[in-house]
Amino acid sequence: MTDRIDNVPHGPIAPAAPAARRSRQARVVWGPRVVTVGGDAPVRVQSMTNTDTVDAIGTAIQVKELAQAGSEMVRITVNTPEAAAQVPYIREQLDRMGVDVPLVGDFHYNGHRLLTEFPACAEALSKYRINPGNVGKGDKKDRQFGQMIEAAMRWNKVIRIGVNWGSLDQELLASLMDINSRRAQPWDAKSVMYEALVSSAIDSAKLAESMGMDGDQIILSCKVSGVQDLISVYRELARRCDYALHLGLTEAGMGTKGTVASATALSILLQEGIGDTIRVSLTPQPGESRTQEVVIASEILQALGLRVFVPSVTACPGCGRTTSTTFQELAKQIDDYLRMQMPVWRHKYPGVEAMKVAVMGCIVNGPGESKHADIGISLPGTGEAPAAPVFIDGEKALTLRGENIATEFHQIVENYIEKRFGQPQVADAA
Ligand code: SF4
Repeated sequence: MTDRIDNVPHGPIAPAAPAARRSRQARVVWGPRVVTVGGDAPVRVQSMTNTDTVDAIGTAIQVKELAQAGSEMVRITVNTPEAAAQVPYIREQLDRMGVDVPLVGDFHYNGHRLLTEFPACAEALSKYRINPGNVGKGDKKDRQFGQMIEAAMRWNKVIRIGVNWGSLDQELLASLMDINSRRAQPWDAKSVMYEALVSSAIDSAKLAESMGMDGDQIILSCKVSGVQDLISVYRELARRCDYALHLGLTEAGMGTKGTVASATALSILLQEGIGDTIRVSLTPQPGESRTQEVVIASEILQALGLRVFVPSVTACPGCGRTTSTTFQELAKQIDDYLRMQMPVWRHKYPGVEAMKVAVMGCIVNGPGESKHADIGISLPGTGEAPAAPVFIDGEKALTLRGENIATEFHQIVENYIEKRFGQPQVADAA
């Protein structure tokens, strides 16, 4: 055995880790709350409401839900004078509820007018999303873009120059196609489209800087709906600039398809160090909470080891060795419970988000996996003795038996959290 170890013809296997791309750092601010994006900041999670912004109360409630789910910035549509008029009121409602999440205004076509005519809206937002394909045509384009940049500078706000292939600057695309047709060896149409996306974002950022905007306060995005397209475009964007990058697959779709496509595209880029803030653009299933996009974005970052948001529950997939659904139900109950408690626990139990819980279906991998977790349970598989050993900090602590295994394990998890992460009580001086 010693010979075998000494003679291995290779070194130790290096652990995989995301690469680093050092970008400039933007500061998205609301009151004392500062959300840094880029530089040495953690990759941020953001989301967008799907309420009518004119419905200020409904929008404020959804922003609160998204913030509680872990969204660090929330974007709202600002599409009409009526919507712009409600933005300060939405901000006021949030402040009253103690929700300090920065709001991002999403502007298209008339943003230059809304930001000028509704100064309270411009002030209440912490960041403006500007789509260079939707700011105007011909000689109006630079003038209207300039009005939005002026508003951002006046109110000291961050901007995201958000290019989207569904609304790509057609004049730029036509001009690049014209140049391409004169090449000795023309590029294919897709390459010209990639170039138009990247150029539109970077040229607009440079234009904003030439107007006096601080380059640190500019974030870029180039969203497309194909996974390989997104990877191609963002690799090039990252290569050509050091602005902070907002990453997301646009129109990812519904359910499993949207989740898998977003996770695939974002993970590959994040592993390469590309992306400073992410959004998962999911179409909610009927009746599904909007917060699902925040949960998925957080899970992507947590799975890659970039952030830790909630305690993780390791559960085996189950197989023919366990025919009851007890362990599935217990794993789900524990997962739901931990997630639901996090808005409170984040403050009450600092560090709890790094905890690992294992819920396993039988003796094959159950004890081993449970020992690797902070707290784990190995439920009895088919034909095994009706006993469930519980492991705490790698040691077998007790064995549960009988009908109430789930309830008792739940209580053991709660006691563990209180004991390990609870703040020591300050003695009453009186
Ligand atoms: S731990 Fe047991 S029940 Fe779970 S997948 Fe492995 S063998 Fe199957």
